[in-house]
Amino acid sequence: MLPLTSLAASLPATVPFVGPEAQERAMGYPFSARLGANENAFGPSPKAIAAMAEGAAEIWRYGDPENHDLREAISAHLGVDGARIGIGEGIDGLLQVIVRLFTTSGTPVVTPHGAYPTFVYHVNGFGGQVITVPYANDFEDIDGLLSAATHSDASLLYLANPDNPMGTWHNASEIERLIERLPPDCVLALDEAYIEFAPDSAVLPAAFEHPRLIRLRTFSKAYGMAGARIGYAITTSEIASAFDRVRNHFGVNRVAQVGALAALADQDHLEGVKRAIMSSNATLGAIATDHGLVPLPSAANFVALDTGRDGEFCKRLTTALATAGVFVRMPGVAPLNRCIRVSSGPPQLMEAFEAALPDAIAAAEAE
Ligand SMILES: *Cc1c(COP(=O)(O)O)cnc(C)c1O
Repeated sequence: MLPLTSLAASLPATVPFVGPEAQERAMGYPFSARLGANENAFGPSPKAIAAMAEGAAEIWRYGDPENHDLREAISAHLGVDGARIGIGEGIDGLLQVIVRLFTTSGTPVVTPHGAYPTFVYHVNGFGGQVITVPYANDFEDIDGLLSAATHSDASLLYLANPDNPMGTWHNASEIERLIERLPPDCVLALDEAYIEFAPDSAVLPAAFEHPRLIRLRTFSKAYGMAGARIGYAITTSEIASAFDRVRNHFGVNRVAQVGALAALADQDHLEGVKRAIMSSNATLGAIATDHGLVPLPSAANFVALDTGRDGEFCKRLTTALATAGVFVRMPGVAPLNRCIRVSSGPPQLMEAFEAALPDAIAAAEAE
């Protein structure tokens, strides 16, 4: 018999996301518009691409396991002590490190119901006990989360600001209020994957520090480097050094390291991408409105489009869009799943979505 641990044996053999590639293989043809994973089709800085191309020739070397240069660059960019920065294989990789540090069999943790699923995936992998709190009017419910964390004695509270899948956000003052009331033995994992798109009022000062706060950021979204797998945490030096106890020390590849360095140095490119995304979000909103859907306000590179129907309708709509070559996703649970979630992107992708939408709605209504 395969000697899986009883924990591993109890887990489903699935990962949180079915990739668009798997869908393409099943359909037998590629998507023409890839708008389901909040990838940034505007792409990375040309300087990052050049640095990675050059870095490829040195791929025979291991990367620096301390990620020294990138940590120093992020430290200088944010004005935060480098000892407070931890680098990892994207936020997803960092979440695994965090969950491993703070949960074991039976440890309670709290997250919004229907939030970004990778946190829960890792908690399940370490046998933690997941407690979920419903959204309140499409916003993560700060008071509900606090109350659940307090009553369950949770070791970790996870939420994203801005949120995925809804795109909504809280002001920094609300997040500060949450941090002030954090139970004394609870660590807050604040996922800031979309923070570059958020209004200033939603962003905690970079140097903001609390002994049990971990902020997670990535080069996957605004910096357009999802395939490179690199992200960072801003936390305390104590927590950052705790990462070193369990992290995959050569996990960040050296091409991603040099790419991230060059991307960070090209803030002009980032500003241009941010403007293009905001304009694309407005286009998505207009397309949705033209076809009877309601765009939710978004501080991210996607928009949740409220169909006013239920999850079954949205599933049919998502499938019909896929059949037409347009990859989008939808939230997993009610009542969020009355929406589909569409990533923003260059005009030709928005046009592909617009072209496919009316027939897809008709198909979803017909069934
Ligand atoms: C996309 C996304 C991530 C994944 O980030 P990586 O750095 O690519 O692992 C994490 N959290 C949220 C909320 C996301 O939407």
